[in-house]
Amino acid sequence: MGTKHTHRIWEDSGAEKFIAAESDKAARAEAREWVADGSYSRGDDDLADESFFAHAYTRNLLTGDSYTDDVLVDLSPEEPVCLSDEDGIELEHDWRDDGAWSVHGTQTVTRATCQRCGLLRRETSETTAGQLPHEPAKTSYIRHTDDE
Ligand SMILES: [Zn+2]
Repeated sequence: MGTKHTHRIWEDSGAEKFIAAESDKAARAEAREWVADGSYSRGDDDLADESFFAHAYTRNLLTGDSYTDDVLVDLSPEEPVCLSDEDGIELEHDWRDDGAWSVHGTQTVTRATCQRCGLLRRETSETTAGQLPHEPAKTSYIRHTDDE
């Protein structure tokens, strides 16, 4: 078992939280997901289709090691393309379901990872007590941009 380090993660707005993770890599993955799932309404419908890069900052509070990861935030996402084969033909994503769980008691998060390109898909559904989840209220895609 690895040691549980304490990491501080934060985003461009200055919002931060502290997490325990097995490794810096795990902390960075959580930071990316947290940033991608942030609220980016901006209060302007004209920007609803915009996608942009936000930053996820991670610091290991024990070692002082710091990381900055780019996170593609897609507000009304078209599904990003997958890899292409040798002939340049785009391949379909090969989704593996990572499971679903409840968040805040009112939301269900479903997560899947593409086995081909590593793209993470995260769908958030509002759940009303006693009812099945609605269609995903929000889908976000997280592309790992580090070169691991
Ligand atoms: Zn893919």
